[in-house]
Amino acid sequence: MKPFEITKSIFIVGGPEITDSRDGCVYLIDLGEFVLIDTGAGWSVDKIIKNIEMLRLDSKRISRILLTHCHIDHIGGAPEIKKRFGCKIYVHKLDAPPIENGDPVLTAATWYQAAFPPTPVDVKFNSSEEILEIGGEKIICLHTPGHTPGSICIYLDRDGKRILFAQDLHGPLLKEFGSNLNDWDRSTQKLLDLDADILCEGHFGIYKTKKDVRNYILSYRRQYGVG
Ligand SMILES: [Zn+2]
Ligand SMILES: [Zn+2]
Repeated sequence: MKPFEITKSIFIVGGPEITDSRDGCVYLIDLGEFVLIDTGAGWSVDKIIKNIEMLRLDSKRISRILLTHCHIDHIGGAPEIKKRFGCKIYVHKLDAPPIENGDPVLTAATWYQAAFPPTPVDVKFNSSEEILEIGGEKIICLHTPGHTPGSICIYLDRDGKRILFAQDLHGPLLKEFGSNLNDWDRSTQKLLDLDADILCEGHFGIYKTKKDVRNYILSYRRQYGVG
């Protein structure tokens, strides 16, 4: 599959069917400057950059990387992308230590037979909701613990549509990740309340109606016995 525009200047530029089966999805939001949401597992940086160029976007405009949580399939490309473009890395403070320490278990690097180098985080989110104002638009980063303690989901409203990036909302919930079902229950309820029009998921693609977004979240709530 090729990279494509999902809706008004929001693109998918990487992911299991686009760059490497080990990659979580990589999204790009054009706000004048570019915000990347996640970076794949690390083997695909060249492909991701090529995909951005293929969409006729100038990769030099990448200014920020928002990491949805500390797992290697989402953070693996961050050190290299930061090195190339000098962009800033944002993550919730509870998921920052595994990234800064290069923790092989908490980053799930051992699962992927990969190594993740200790990588400094530039901005640590510290509250339940953080608003980034970029190019006259607002990007909202919600703390949605459950899969990991510092998982975040991101949304923005553009042209009357609410676009939600909820990467590993599906889980899994595992002790070794510090997962927590009660937190996950509250977090997924928050996501339902957003009533998003488009869901950009981390591994299972893009859902493009309110009904599909809702059903997707509800199906996992049922699966975990909280729906
Ligand atoms: Zn993942
Ligand atoms: Zn994960």
